[in-house]
Amino acid sequence: MPSQKIHFNNAGSSLPPDIVVEAVVSYLREEAAVGGYETEAKYKEQLENVYTSIARLINAKKDEIALVENASAAWSLAFKGLSFQKGDVVITSEMEYVTNLLGLLEFQKTHGIEVRMVPNDEQGNFSLAALEAAIGPRTRLVAMTHIPSSAGNVLPVADIGRIAHKHQILYLLDACQSAGQVPIDVNEINCDFLAVTGRKYLRAPRGTGFLYVRKEVQDQLTPLMIDGFSTRETSLHGYELREDARRFELYEKSRALTLGLGKAVDYALAIGLDSIWRRIQQLAGLMRLKLSAIDGITVHDRGDQLCGIVTFSLDAVDSTLIKKELAAKNINVSIGAAHSTLYYMSRRNLDKILRASVHYYNTEEEIDIFCDALVAIREGVELSTPYLTKLI
Ligand SMILES: *Cc1c(COP(=O)(O)O)cnc(C)c1O
Repeated sequence: MPSQKIHFNNAGSSLPPDIVVEAVVSYLREEAAVGGYETEAKYKEQLENVYTSIARLINAKKDEIALVENASAAWSLAFKGLSFQKGDVVITSEMEYVTNLLGLLEFQKTHGIEVRMVPNDEQGNFSLAALEAAIGPRTRLVAMTHIPSSAGNVLPVADIGRIAHKHQILYLLDACQSAGQVPIDVNEINCDFLAVTGRKYLRAPRGTGFLYVRKEVQDQLTPLMIDGFSTRETSLHGYELREDARRFELYEKSRALTLGLGKAVDYALAIGLDSIWRRIQQLAGLMRLKLSAIDGITVHDRGDQLCGIVTFSLDAVDSTLIKKELAAKNINVSIGAAHSTLYYMSRRNLDKILRASVHYYNTEEEIDIFCDALVAIREGVELSTPYLTKLI
């Protein structure tokens, strides 16, 4: 079904392809007709193949993948499953996502860990030198976000991995915005854990995600919850965990959505992540160029490597208002709220900014319509002063 809208909210949730929607809907119909367990038995192989597809996507092995409902669950399973001692240090960047920051703050309080934030350099790039300088004898974990939620830059995750590996420090990567947008190879990145959501650049249904846990570190992580699926050899005297990453899953989950996630991953692989990434960078680059040429618009993205997330604001006008006006013109964008990327936004005195995130299916024509709409909104706002939040 072609979208009637111009969808620039791909960093919120992108539009799943028909093949994904069909897979989910027809699976649900079959469950209703013949029974949930019976349908599962029939689709056993296809459901198993979802793990293989995900493993291919990130160059992992299928026994290193656990299916979860979202990236926050994936990240928390990894972070909170580690055993921290008082005084252990966790290093993060100023681009870290809110769920992750909250987890760090919680463990600061409950476990006495120390959180060190590596600030970006003057040019807005992640500073590898500052990371090296922050590492000390008590550093247990490096926790980074590949692509931040409300900024257009990309972190040099493989360089970070090289440093973490050199110092034998565990490395947890939030790849929520990068999976489906950027080619990801966990071996090249050298991360131990990778947290991903399905609904963003992967074009999977909402409520899907996965966690990658490197085989060698699976025993260092305690599952937060267990059931008969995550364990084997259960007796009244004890139990053994499964031997693969599925020990971090629970038995009950949506099989329909699992299949949908698998279809979305296969779809991305068939197009090719290299082509997807090239196309997204080209469209986003064009969008930044055109936005910057509009009087009164400030593009906020900084750094050498930018991605499909374009953040900007219109001088002196509330971003929520612009979002509403764009919605009235059938253009979807989202708001980057300060709390979502708290260190970064507060360091730069940013509050609510507009986030227009492009995917490969967007077009140059849509970007033109979008920019024309912004010019019209800006002119309309100038005529009606009550909208102005700060009259200078
Ligand atoms: C959206 C987002 C998350 C959280 O993903 P959920 O699936 O909503 O839990 C984590 N990290 C980043 C960078 C995000 O943009």
